[in-house]
Amino acid sequence: MRPSDPSKPSYVARIERIESDSRGANVRVYIRWYYRPEESIGGRRQFHGSKEVFLSDHYDIQSADTIEAKCVVHSFKSYTKLDAVGNEDFFCRFEYNSSTGAFNPDRVAVYCKCEMPYNPDDLMVQCEGCSDWFHPACIEMTAEEAKRLDHFFCENCSSEGQKKLQNSHATSRQSDTKKQDKANKSGLRIGDNGHVT
Ligand SMILES: [Zn+2]
Ligand SMILES: [Zn+2]
Repeated sequence: MRPSDPSKPSYVARIERIESDSRGANVRVYIRWYYRPEESIGGRRQFHGSKEVFLSDHYDIQSADTIEAKCVVHSFKSYTKLDAVGNEDFFCRFEYNSSTGAFNPDRVAVYCKCEMPYNPDDLMVQCEGCSDWFHPACIEMTAEEAKRLDHFFCENCSSEGQKKLQNSHATSRQSDTKKQDKANKSGLRIGDNGHVT
């Protein structure tokens, strides 16, 4: 939707209903706004993707003339599977309460040594031992080095990992224990001010 301030990026909204008068004129659209992270009370956080939007509880009626173009708001999962992200591609993983600043869900899974939620803009590598994901910078690697890796085992898994590569009949016992560790690592709560607490 066309913003009132032309220097701002276009607004993103979901059209719920389209109405016109009996002569088919004055077409109005009933919309539900998507908020960009910088428009939310807590502002943009490091884990927010550049194409991330929040489905808000803010409804509005606009003239159909304000529609600029059609875009696609993907689920988080399908967004991460896109081969290429176009101008018209966005993703949404949170609903947003525009009066309280609360998010739903209010917890997100965290990854890496830095324990941050996943930002789909950032490259991460997955450990073959514990299945956790890591930022190259957090494991003292460049992005180029990370892309060239065939196998990656994190610090905690590396001794175990070498054994597994040598012996493909590794027992599943150790990986069961690892899965439990992972489950114990709880997600971060996103507070009412939008900050991770
Ligand atoms: Zn990290
Ligand atoms: Zn690991």
